[in-house]
Amino acid sequence: MFSFQYHSPVQICFGYGARDTLGEVAGRLGGKGFLVVDPGVASSPLFKAYIESQTALLAGCFDKVEPNPSVGCVSRIAAQIRSTGAGFVVALGGGSTIDAAKAAALSAGGSPIEEYHSGRRPAGENALPVIAMPTTAGTGSEVTAVSVLTDPARGVKAPIGGPALLPRVAIVDPEWTVSVPPTVTAATGMDALSHALEAYWGVHAQPICDALAEKAAWLILDSLEQAYANGSDRDAREKVALGSLLAGLAFAAPKTAAVHACSFPLTQRFRLPHGVACALTLDRFLEYNTLALPEKLAHLARQLGLEGVPALAARIRTMKRNMSLPTTLADVGIHEQNLPALVAESFHPNMRNNPREVTPADLMAIYSSLQETH
Ligand code: ZN
Repeated sequence: MFSFQYHSPVQICFGYGARDTLGEVAGRLGGKGFLVVDPGVASSPLFKAYIESQTALLAGCFDKVEPNPSVGCVSRIAAQIRSTGAGFVVALGGGSTIDAAKAAALSAGGSPIEEYHSGRRPAGENALPVIAMPTTAGTGSEVTAVSVLTDPARGVKAPIGGPALLPRVAIVDPEWTVSVPPTVTAATGMDALSHALEAYWGVHAQPICDALAEKAAWLILDSLEQAYANGSDRDAREKVALGSLLAGLAFAAPKTAAVHACSFPLTQRFRLPHGVACALTLDRFLEYNTLALPEKLAHLARQLGLEGVPALAARIRTMKRNMSLPTTLADVGIHEQNLPALVAESFHPNMRNNPREVTPADLMAIYSSLQETH
């Protein structure tokens, strides 16, 4: 027997043209908004035209969000939000932009961001409302209560979590993803698949999130390679955007597990993009976790139209090869002498969400198996 709770207060507007709902959504929040974007979005003609069409809604804009945003970047955004008197924040971009905007909205309405990031203060209240508009399909940040920030002074990349970080509204328009380059499509899509699978096999899995995860995984397996190979395939883009959104809803409560725990040092130490880091170990942890959840994972494989877990693991490896993602540690410049540090740094708290305990020796075996092509 089991019991569970599920709660998602985020209003979701999904579909081609959903971006046109911004005025109506903003009107309900009242006052003017503060826009947060990265330099790539700010300089793109597509986004420039959209932002110019929305200037009446906006009191100001920060257009210098960095990848893997720092607490310093968030502090600068929060100061600008306060100085403009904006009543809400609009985040238009990928995961880094949405995470930075959510944290800045929290800090602008509350305390310095370091207070939350160091764990001295809970992210429970006082944030300005956030309207999140993802421009990539993968992060899920538009529906999660987490913001991942780096603090160079402390040498830490870590999430802040709390209800104040949930966006008020997610406007998910697949149109934004049509121009995303293939490498980013592959990485972000595999991140979304990792969110779905880790929600499904994590120790805090529950039926509503399982249903969302199954559907998310099905959509991504069905369409990600098409979106990668032909970016203007609007049907494939729509399915991947929906898969990413559902995966975000799926892992918002159960959180992620070993794949994401390992992704943090792979990104920090070896500079792998987040989704590439997740994809690297995803099939290995599927196989590893099968011993703990043989029936549940076999059921998942069948729901995805595959015979069993080995076929699903093989399918994930094929996806990586088809999208030119790395499949071995050598592909990303990691060698045997790097493994002890990599193992030691992979024990992020999310590792405890894995359904099968992972010891340092187990992890060394998994990383060692990635030295060769499977
Ligand atoms: Zn992720």
